[in-house]
Formats: sequence, structure tokens, C-alpha cells
Amino acid sequence: MSPFMKLAGKAIARESITREEALSVLRSDDGEILEVIAAGHRVRRHYFGNRVKLNYLVNLKSGLCPEDCGYCSQRSGSQADILKYTWLKPDEVLSVTAAGVAGGAKRVCLVGSGRGPTDGDVERVSRTIEAIKERHPDVEVCACLGFLSDGKAERLRQAGADAYSHNLNTARANYGNICSTHDFDDRVDTVTQAKAAGMSPCSGLIAGMGERDEDLADVALALRELDVESVPVNFLIPFQGTPLAGEWRLTPNRCLRILAMVRLVHPDVEVRVAGGRELHLRTLQPLALYLANSIFLGDYLTSEGQEGHLDLKMIEDAGFVVEGAGERTLPEHRFGDVRSRKRGAGTDLPANA
Ligand code: SF4
Repeated sequence: MSPFMKLAGKAIARESITREEALSVLRSDDGEILEVIAAGHRVRRHYFGNRVKLNYLVNLKSGLCPEDCGYCSQRSGSQADILKYTWLKPDEVLSVTAAGVAGGAKRVCLVGSGRGPTDGDVERVSRTIEAIKERHPDVEVCACLGFLSDGKAERLRQAGADAYSHNLNTARANYGNICSTHDFDDRVDTVTQAKAAGMSPCSGLIAGMGERDEDLADVALALRELDVESVPVNFLIPFQGTPLAGEWRLTPNRCLRILAMVRLVHPDVEVRVAGGRELHLRTLQPLALYLANSIFLGDYLTSEGQEGHLDLKMIEDAGFVVEGAGERTLPEHRFGDVRSRKRGAGTDLPANA
């Protein structure tokens, strides 16, 4: 049995993979790639079968952020050629959302650039969430609006947000290399607030920013410590006009090793291949489905993704199926962690207030 398959056995038994074991996956060589994928796939299959969850991004407010995250095309001073606009109106969001849901998306991710939402922003997004829930009661809504404070998490939850997304991005030791306007602990604090308010915590990482193997292992372990329920794995999109424009370090096999490591560290939570999938996995994209149980359908926040119909064809060709709205994403022992709202707006039941 390969050493990686032994790690799969541990992961299935829900014994924690150690830092050294995570590093052994990242440091495996190309000749071992199929063994690494087979090990990750065994775990993925055990907990998630052949289902692929589709998520759909809606960029509510694009660009003009005062923060200076080096990887981000929306950062302060970014010269990247991206769309810049302020908050979409609920009707505009509904029309974009409808396209994603028609394509099979089960979760809609409402993202707004900026350090964090004001009270007015929370009010605006809450109205949008209520409108989506009224139109698509079975669709999960995830908000991603930056740092939370002063009861804003609770208000979003009351409006019907099922989840809140806020990435740790990289390890604590590397955080100062990617951003100077906030730190790792700020990010941990917001994930903790979202979770305490009853939203499913979604938090992940970005690979390809010049980090060490240890940083990738450490951020995966930090996310496990926070007990997050979905882990988006982004591969840096090196936008021209951002400080990381020249960073082209990833190879398809490197991306697959990172996904396998994250799967083994997080055996029973949603692992999502996120931004940069097409750019860095290229022709090996379908192999990512053997490790991750979730992808974004269609476009990303500021860059275009693969055509939606090609995403669906890729899933079908590889023998996977799109997860239905009525199906649970997480395995049985985690049931109850994601609570779809069945009261308040869009129902005959009173709102939770
Ligand atoms: S806070 Fe968010 S939108 Fe702003 S620069 Fe950082 S990643 Fe980009």
C-alpha cells in the first residue's frame, strides 16, 4: 500500500493528518501523482460519492477596495483591467442568480469588495438575500463582505444567509508578505464571528503566491482548527496591474498535490476548486474532481471562467453528477451544520427575530 493510501485510511477514520504528513503529499514527485490522486479520491468518494456541488459567484460590488491584498485585482492601487461598479440592485442580483441556478448552482455566493460592510451595506445585502430566498427557497446563500463587527453576522443570518465566506488565504507566518492593511488574526476573528452567528463557515486559501510548502500545510491546518465547513482552494490569477502579476509558479500536478493535501486534512468537509482552476490545471482540470467535491460554475469575481456548459460536460464525462438542491452536501455526521432557512421571508412562518 502506498504511504498516501495509508493517509487516506487515517482520513476516512477521521484521524488528523499531521503537518509532516501534509508536507509529504506536497513534496511527492510527479511520478507519484496518480497514487496521490487515488488516495485523495478514496476519501472524497467515501464522504461525497460522485456528487459535485456547483456554486455561483455574484460580484455585488467590484473593485475600489481600500485594502492592499497583493493577489487581488480589486485592491487599492490596482491597475488591473477589471469591471468597477458599486452595489448591484436586488433586481440585478436576482437576474444573475437565476442564470446560475438554471445552470445547476446550489449555492449562490454574494461577494462585495471592501474592508467590511457598513450598517447600510448589511441592510442592502439583507434585502437582496431575502429576495433570493423568496425566489429560490432551496438555494443556499453565502455572503462574503469582508470583516464583520457589531452584530452584522447576526443580521445577515437573520436575513437568511446560510453561510459566510472569508478566506484565511495563507499561513500566519506568510500573511505579512501578502497584505499590510490587516492581519491573519483579523481574518480568524471574522470566521469565528460568522460561525458564532450560526452561519456555515467557508474559508480557504490561495496557492501560487510564492509561499512555502509549510505555509500551505499550515493554512490547511489552521482552517481545520477553525472547523470550517467549506474550503475553497484558489490558484493565484496573476492579474497584470497587481504586485503578483509575474507569479506563474504553479503546474497542473502541483495544483493536484495541493488539492490532495487539503482533501486529506479536511476529509469530510466541502473542498472547492475555486479561482484559477482553468488557468493552472488546464487540461488536467477533470482530475481535480477526484479530489474536490465542489467547483464554481461559470465566471469568477473579476475574471472569466470556463463556459458553464463545458463545466457540466466535464463533470458528466468524468462520471460525476451535479448535486441536487434537495441533497445534503456534508456527510451524515455533520448534518445540521448547514441550516437552510425555512421560516421568515418567502414562507408562512414568522421571521426569527
Ligand atoms: S479585502 Fe478583499 S476585495 Fe479588498 S483587496 Fe483584499 S481580497 Fe481584494
